[in-house]
Amino acid sequence: MKGKLVFVTNNKHKLEEISAIVGDKIEILSLSDIDCHDDIPETADTFEGNALLKARYVKERYGYDCFADDTGLQVEALDGAPGVYSARYAGEPSNSEKNIDKLLANLGNKENRKARFVTCIALVKGNHEHIFHGEIAGKIICERRGSAGFGYDSIFVPDGYEETFAQMGEGQKNKISHRAKAVKKLSEFLNTL
Ligand code: IMP
Repeated sequence: MKGKLVFVTNNKHKLEEISAIVGDKIEILSLSDIDCHDDIPETADTFEGNALLKARYVKERYGYDCFADDTGLQVEALDGAPGVYSARYAGEPSNSEKNIDKLLANLGNKENRKARFVTCIALVKGNHEHIFHGEIAGKIICERRGSAGFGYDSIFVPDGYEETFAQMGEGQKNKISHRAKAVKKLSEFLNTL
């Protein structure tokens, strides 16, 4: 029988991306598939902590083996901000344009523009927990470029490239991104089971 695994998300885009990578060996269910409509707490101060909080929440209350992800942007000259607060850097409700404005204002004319996207995936399977990391280094440019993608894509240029994530478009981004790397590690692990 085909194994089932809950992905602690209702984000359709993420579900499709991961289902395509994992293949048809495992059926990936969303939160709404298991009738979970809870506002799951994300109160930890690390990506790993938040991913674990979300995955443990679903395992403990709903009983399913599952995995959860947490992602953010860390800017070196801002001591790692916005980090785990990437989604709500400029306050609630979360707004990407305001987040970018705040980031560019805080960075000002600083010469050090180094940044990285980090994704952490926590898998809770049976009595075991596994963590998978993915990251990509790059720099923050001074003004937006490109219209694809989401979040901070229009101001992030990955190392070794000239274009921002928002100029590249999904095809290229999904080959090299933080999330793609973490998802690939998860998928490789699942394939060994
Ligand atoms: P999440 O944990 O995947 O929901 O990501 C948290 C926040 O990080 C998002 O709301 C975005 O602001 C930012 N973020 C995550 N992944 C990306 C990405 O691939 N590009 C740009 N911004 C991202």
